[in-house]
Amino acid sequence: MKVAIMGAGLSGLSCAITLEKQRIHPVVFEKRNRVGDRFVNAEAVFNILNKPYNNCLEYIKNEYGIEFKGINDINRVNFHSKNEVGSIKGNLGKSNIRGRQKDSFEEQLRKQYKGEIIYNSQYSYEELAKEFTHVVLATGDGAYSIKLNNYTIGLTATLKGATVEGNFDDNLISIWFNHEFAPKGYAYIIPYSDKEANIVISYPDYTETKERDLNYMWNSFYNKICNDMKQSLKITDRFEITRYIIGICKRPKIDNTYFVGNCFGAISPALGFGQFTSILTGIYAAEDMIGLKKYEEQTKVLIENYNNSLLIRKALESLSDNQLDFMIKNLDNKITDKLIDKIHSDETEFDLLKWASYVLKPFYVV
Ligand SMILES: Cc1cc2nc3c(=O)[nH]c(=O)nc-3n(C[C@H](O)[C@H](O)[C@H](O)COP(=O)(O)OP(=O)(O)OC[C@H]3O[C@@H](n4cnc5c(N)ncnc54)[C@H](O)[C@@H]3O)c2cc1C
Repeated sequence: MKVAIMGAGLSGLSCAITLEKQRIHPVVFEKRNRVGDRFVNAEAVFNILNKPYNNCLEYIKNEYGIEFKGINDINRVNFHSKNEVGSIKGNLGKSNIRGRQKDSFEEQLRKQYKGEIIYNSQYSYEELAKEFTHVVLATGDGAYSIKLNNYTIGLTATLKGATVEGNFDDNLISIWFNHEFAPKGYAYIIPYSDKEANIVISYPDYTETKERDLNYMWNSFYNKICNDMKQSLKITDRFEITRYIIGICKRPKIDNTYFVGNCFGAISPALGFGQFTSILTGIYAAEDMIGLKKYEEQTKVLIENYNNSLLIRKALESLSDNQLDFMIKNLDNKITDKLIDKIHSDETEFDLLKWASYVLKPFYVV
């Protein structure tokens, strides 16, 4: 078996490490000149969105022997609407670093992979498919899946973000649903530490949102966040992404080509989380090649999660500021606290995505 993995990111390297443990030695092709050569970004892995796993990163370590060190425990998420703030508390997940940083998730994976990475690769999928018996597409976007007519686009999004300096509670993530600066989308802050954080706005590209002035919305968010946090944040780095594709592949595997990570459709449309699913798809593709479990079978639940998450996204987009105020105000109550406790308990397999998609279904607008 000759395996080529296109992309040395989360899914590609997770796949490579899993194969290597079974003495299958893939070749990893990376188009950049090093692993993680992109903007530095704070991201998060949320346990409560990934039931039945109580601790996603521990699960990956115990089950597959791949280690990830996050930076901070997240024990509170504040949700802000135009006029209200609500929160959920508990062992919610972990924040982590991505990009060109020595402790980024992709760097941590690179250190665990002993095999070959060919940097500055310009090989196309077609060229690799001729030379190798198996090809894993792990390029971090839907472009190849679309080109191979194997992808359904759910939406595309515009993202603008920055690294900021200030004073932060590094166990707290805040999310804003506010049509003024994130029309039909959301904005958030994830701290790297008590002195540095990442702030981002993300909203879907529709005719009405594309007409809005991105710089105006960014300034409005920046002012709002400084106001809410009662401090002036110093911007030290910036990034902007246009037409970020969120969608799902039609088939996770075609002949001996595997679609993993964002090529598979790892990003959940509701809030943009994709790391855990990217890691899982990389591992699952390797398990299929090893002959342990079928990739199509293992990814069924991930496709179902994507569909539930898309429904939540569409429902959220249709809520007015008043409806968002109502929802968020009601987060701080005993029922929500009980629900979060139930999700945390070891015994339950309560599926938050499924539940939320059911509750929000009446708001769903095609
Ligand atoms: C701003 C932002 C914030 C996010 N926040 C979160 C979050 O908080 N939590 C969360 O869970 N998820 C988050 N995500 C999503 C998450 O980052 C992705 O789902 C995940 O990184 C995808 O992993 P991957 O393996 O598919 O791609 P990546 O990890 O991006 O790796 C792709 C690799 O392929 C390489 N490559 C590209 N083209 C080629 C080619 N032609 N040949 C060879 N190599 C190639 C790239 O250089 C890169 O190294 C966020 C995404 C963005 C953009």
